[in-house]
Amino acid sequence: MAEIGWQGIRITVPDDWEPGEFSGDGQSGHMRIDSMMQPRALVRWLAPSATKDVFGKVATPIQGVDRILDNYIKALTKGERKQKKHIEADTSTRLLSKRKMGQRTVRTYSWRCPSDGRLAHGMVWHCKECGRTVIAEVNGHEHEDVAGWAETILPTVTDHAMDGQVLWAFFDLRVLVPEEFRLENSVMVGGKVELRLENGKREVISAQRWVANVALRGGDLEAWAKRDLFKPLRQQHTFKYTADSWFGHPGIRVDGRRKGPKEHLGFMWGRITGRERPFFLDGRIWHCEPTNKIHSLHTLTRESNRELIDRIQETMRCHPED
Ligand SMILES: [Zn+2]
Ligand SMILES: [Zn+2]
Repeated sequence: MAEIGWQGIRITVPDDWEPGEFSGDGQSGHMRIDSMMQPRALVRWLAPSATKDVFGKVATPIQGVDRILDNYIKALTKGERKQKKHIEADTSTRLLSKRKMGQRTVRTYSWRCPSDGRLAHGMVWHCKECGRTVIAEVNGHEHEDVAGWAETILPTVTDHAMDGQVLWAFFDLRVLVPEEFRLENSVMVGGKVELRLENGKREVISAQRWVANVALRGGDLEAWAKRDLFKPLRQQHTFKYTADSWFGHPGIRVDGRRKGPKEHLGFMWGRITGRERPFFLDGRIWHCEPTNKIHSLHTLTRESNRELIDRIQETMRCHPED
């Protein structure tokens, strides 16, 4: 099983299920997880602001959950009708035991399409802690053990930061990041996966995972890092590269800072006034040979926050541990 994390949502799925789509943001959005070109798991999250009309009109949270489930089933039925399909929904299923669901107030449901055999088991809940409402669903066909998957997978879904940390995990990139960092950009193309986050102080975290043999093309790690990773940043930063080792792998330590008299003056001024600006670019790159991956982490931070890179790097994993 593998854990996928995105925008505070975490879900554990079989190893061969992979992210198919991420959309929305930390407020409201959804993710789809596929295997063999089929949607397998869907998770939607709704911000408190998106559901306040619903929860404002009902006496208890579970009534709000019921309304959200009804609306979801209506929208689903309508969408299927446009495809000339008819689905049968059951919102009174008892798939998951109370014990498995812990403190959450949940409704479980299922739907099936008799004409093509598609089948789904899902659940809806409202989180008392963060106020998010979540719909999580597992999909398959009649000949598959969809109920069994749902029983295993649905209880693993969690919906908010834990201890102030948000897990971002997909396609062999895995990192825990302080929740004040917001997603700025993500890239998932061919051999490269990248996550770029920023906080209110314009500090940046960039975590990347590359397919090593494709990236390196027989060259060495430092030449590659200079060319493919840090070239776009060279205009604004000076760098020093030192050979190092992380997670038992050969690697590089990058020590960078903003360049130019204006930036330097801003840095000195920040030291005096206590209003620091991000100035230091710290980087770690390592080649995980057993998995044929290169991992890279860099941060752009204020001087007083330079240990951020250590805290984040220690949450990263590049190969299975035994
Ligand atoms: Zn929550
Ligand atoms: Zn490794």
